[in-house]
Amino acid sequence: MGRHGMHGVCVRVGMLLIFVLSPVAAFDLAEYRLRAATDRAAGIEEGRRALREGVFVTDPASERTLLWYMGGAAVGAADDVALDEVVAHLEALAQRHGDGVAASYSGFLRGTRRIDTGDVHAGLVVVLEAANRIATHEDVAMRITAAGELCRAYVLAGLPARASEHCRRHTRLVRESGDEVALARAEYIEASALSQSGAPHEAIENWKRARERFLAHGLRGLAARTAGALASDLVTVNRHDEALAMAGEALAAAQAADSAVSIAIARGVVADALFGLGRFAEARSEVEQAIALAEPLRQPVLLISLLRSQAVIVMASEGDPALAQRIRERIALLADVSSASGSAEQEEISTLEQTFREREQHLRISELEHDSRVKELALEQARMEADRKEQTLVHQRTVMWLAAVVSLLLLAGLAVLVRLLRAQQRLAQVLRAQAYRDALTGLPNRRALTEAIQTLLEAPDAMLRGHALLVVDVDRFKAINDQFGHPFGDTVLAAIAQRLQAAVSPHGMVARLGGEEFALLCPDRSEDQARALAEQVRRDVADLVLVERGKPVEVSVSIGGAMLGGPADDFSAWFHAADAALYRAKKAGRNRVDFASAG
Ligand code: GH3
Ligand code: MG
Ligand code: MG
Repeated sequence: MGRHGMHGVCVRVGMLLIFVLSPVAAFDLAEYRLRAATDRAAGIEEGRRALREGVFVTDPASERTLLWYMGGAAVGAADDVALDEVVAHLEALAQRHGDGVAASYSGFLRGTRRIDTGDVHAGLVVVLEAANRIATHEDVAMRITAAGELCRAYVLAGLPARASEHCRRHTRLVRESGDEVALARAEYIEASALSQSGAPHEAIENWKRARERFLAHGLRGLAARTAGALASDLVTVNRHDEALAMAGEALAAAQAADSAVSIAIARGVVADALFGLGRFAEARSEVEQAIALAEPLRQPVLLISLLRSQAVIVMASEGDPALAQRIRERIALLADVSSASGSAEQEEISTLEQTFREREQHLRISELEHDSRVKELALEQARMEADRKEQTLVHQRTVMWLAAVVSLLLLAGLAVLVRLLRAQQRLAQVLRAQAYRDALTGLPNRRALTEAIQTLLEAPDAMLRGHALLVVDVDRFKAINDQFGHPFGDTVLAAIAQRLQAAVSPHGMVARLGGEEFALLCPDRSEDQARALAEQVRRDVADLVLVERGKPVEVSVSIGGAMLGGPADDFSAWFHAADAALYRAKKAGRNRVDFASAG
């Protein structure tokens, strides 16, 4: 076994030891609550043992809960010693830990006991103070306790009108909490209030619901106690058979639990039911046993109610007015004692009651405020979400617009660019055209001719096909300029250009080489054809009829021709040959044609 394995075993053994030794793990508070509520004496003993053994010594909150349940048993069993013990423990907790809940629990127990013993108003003051302390507690369980204790205290004090509001609130809160047993308990005390306020039919329904709920959870003791209370109200509405059955069930349970108070109460109800059924002797016997049990319990309310029953039974069964009178006097005496509180105490109760009501209202308001705050937050969130979406939408729209604008701008720019390009192209074309054309005559210029000849020369069969080049020069042009002026000279040049163009078109090209010199490129011609064309051109020019300042002006040209091929096998040789022929024509007297000799 490795180190880790060993360690694991140690941890498990340690945990086991803690589990075995720890009393906390063995003590179930929820189960204790039920045990203490069903068998009070046993509950008190178990609570004492747990306190002695320090079960909750490191857990004051659980100790507080234990004391609360134990206190409930002590109050119910009228065990003042146990109650004092519980109160002392709770007060110590309140002091040691500044525990307001423990202080309230102590108050509820002390107050309830005081009401039980007939000190109704002082008891109510203590209960109200305790309720005020936890009425607005953040834990809903505490608010439930406050409402429940107020309901119970007012019921005990015989003030059902005041109780009912707290009881209803208590039942509602408990129902919302979903605790079925607690709900049965709440229905039980609400039924008490209803019963007291003279609404036995409604009370009966509540009792029955509570009893069924207790039974459903196996709480037979509590169900039996409920049956006792139910029996009372059944007597009130003259359902004596049912009442006797329920009271019998309650009595049996009370005897099994050996609870004097419960036995006394149950016997009282059994007596009432028997009386209602006309079984007077049995009724009298039951009520006397009940009074005997109740006498030492210091519970004047219970005793009064039993004595009242006794008075009625005695009157009806035996007609003993003297006995009935004695009983009534005793009742009056007891009633005086139990309601001997002064008006100052009454006022204090009213003030505290008012405070409690206000606190409750504040609580309800803050609950509502909390609800509306939650709604507000949700609304705010929705609004923010909507804003965010709106912003996104606006953003998207802006981006779309921007994109559209940018696209449009781009398109416009593109259009402008295209137009610029086209203009540029056109300009280039114009410039290019200009570069290849002579401005005065509109003829192609020397550059255009040169390129045309280059193209011609590039053809593989250029030498074989027969191309002629004629160079034309105006004769004594300087004299024309001198005699008639430069502008007229230009007119002459334009007229000659026209004649040359007409002579070669469309199978040839005329170009102005510069000054008064022209050239004719005549492709695909024999030398004879070329000579004939040159002669034709010379004659055409000579035939020109030009008149300036009323005088006829004679114009002529000299032409030198050369065929491609032989020594004229490239551009400059070809040109040179034609130029040389022109020179010869000039020398020979002008207005004539000469041709470079082939070969
Ligand atoms: P030749 O018969 O020997 O060719 O005599 P020519 O006078 O024609 O020859 P020359 O070279 O001595 O004179 C050419 C003249 O052409 C000179 C120049 O003033 C004129 N000329 C050149 N270009 C133009 C032009 O564009 N317009 C006008 N009106 N005259 C031009
Ligand atoms: Mg010349
Ligand atoms: Mg000339």
